[in-house]
Amino acid sequence: MSNPVTFPPSIWAVTAPARTQAAPLTETIETDTVVIGGGFTGLGAALHLAKAGSDVVLLEGKAIGWGASGRNNGQVIPTLTAAEPDMWVQRYGETGRLFAQMIGASANVLFDAIREEDITSHADAEQTGWFQPAHTPGRTKLSQKRVDAWQRFGLDARYLDHKATSDLLGTEHWYGGMLAPSGGHINPLGLSRGLALAVERAGGTIYEATPVLFYEHDGTQWVVKTDQGTVKARALILATNAYTGEVVPKLNRRLAHSIVPVSSWQMSTEPLSDELRASILPGRQAVSDTRGDLRFFHYDRDNRLITGGAIMGFGDLAARMARKAANNLADSFPQLAPPKMTHVWEGYLSMNWDRFPRVHSLGPNGWTWIGCNGRGVALGYSLGREMARATSGEDLASLALPTTTPHALPFHAIGRAIAPYYLFWYRFKDHREYKS
Ligand SMILES: Cc1cc2nc3c(=O)[nH]c(=O)nc-3n(C[C@H](O)[C@H](O)[C@H](O)COP(=O)(O)OP(=O)(O)OC[C@H]3O[C@@H](n4cnc5c(N)ncnc54)[C@H](O)[C@@H]3O)c2cc1C
Repeated sequence: MSNPVTFPPSIWAVTAPARTQAAPLTETIETDTVVIGGGFTGLGAALHLAKAGSDVVLLEGKAIGWGASGRNNGQVIPTLTAAEPDMWVQRYGETGRLFAQMIGASANVLFDAIREEDITSHADAEQTGWFQPAHTPGRTKLSQKRVDAWQRFGLDARYLDHKATSDLLGTEHWYGGMLAPSGGHINPLGLSRGLALAVERAGGTIYEATPVLFYEHDGTQWVVKTDQGTVKARALILATNAYTGEVVPKLNRRLAHSIVPVSSWQMSTEPLSDELRASILPGRQAVSDTRGDLRFFHYDRDNRLITGGAIMGFGDLAARMARKAANNLADSFPQLAPPKMTHVWEGYLSMNWDRFPRVHSLGPNGWTWIGCNGRGVALGYSLGREMARATSGEDLASLALPTTTPHALPFHAIGRAIAPYYLFWYRFKDHREYKS
């Protein structure tokens, strides 16, 4: 084994079951499908292939769950941040419909996989529902519209009025909202490690501390060069998402520059007392509200609130963010004093200008996706599975893969530097009422 990879100082790194890091690749090997990246996308793809009896090798440059998958908030959400389901049909026709339906089904798909692979305790999985409360009276109209739209795409979605919302949350801070009972929350690093175990149990091979330096299709097969080895494969799935340019900058510059990696801060409180636990969010749902400067939280298995947010400017961002998130919680729940944050960490979201995730063909039997825009736990797993089905020769017309060509954003470095200041715009919009 190589030196153990260091993880960000998240609560997940403390509470997730340990994993013995797999050895790096140090030779030339052949396989049917090579997967690059060990997050939910890569693990979802590898698990699907290994369970179907295919020969699959997964190469992770750092460690399983080191990227966004092991450091996110852990909310399992069967919708996207901005792109509403009808917009997928308008943009991509029937494939767009399949994509929207896949999103709507994605939370159930993930929780079903967790149960089937017997990794519920690894993942601390709780399918208690996902709730999006409206932060102004006008936004309740948006919630109702979303409920109607998602129901047409097969998602069990319900509108809760002010009274039901207040009962669910334990506060009158919000006005109504959309409940998706299939959602919930997980320990994301625990889930990543549980899925890796499931891949290995199904016969897939994982190499960690194995950064891919370069890959190409030589006309016959994919040839993937790592720092110490080579993989030759019929099919390739690139599952590096927001971290595409972060581990090896030249891996796929056009793809890396088609999004802006934006830092998102996460943190955990100390465990809440039984009394507070009973009055705040008694049903243990995962919650993210309608603000652009989002308020979001859920309990972990030890009754800590896991929350976070975004911040701009300079100085000690972690300390400033912790104060802001603590004050947001206390503002939302009058029974709670601003809590002390015990762990504060950050990770990159892959953001693009219209907040539509993108799927790209890389060449013969080669696939990738990017642009989670903040929602990729359930989606990443489902898209990994979908890309695996494509490499297995399934009819593309039956798959939820709206394929486009990646376009590098002009002046990417400038975009990256100014991206955190999108918060000004979101805060401005948060104060405006939604008019249908
Ligand atoms: C702080 C934060 C909070 C979030 N909260 C939520 C949430 O609550 N709910 C939700 O739905 N979504 C959330 N997201 C988004 C979600 O976590 C991601 O969309 C999802 O995890 C992406 O999974 P992935 O497998 O595609 O990518 P990742 O998990 O990022 O995996 C990519 C992997 O590729 C590896 N890699 C990169 N380059 C190379 C290379 N050259 N060679 C080999 N390996 C390489 C990286 O090391 C990494 O492990 C959050 C994201 C962040 C950052």
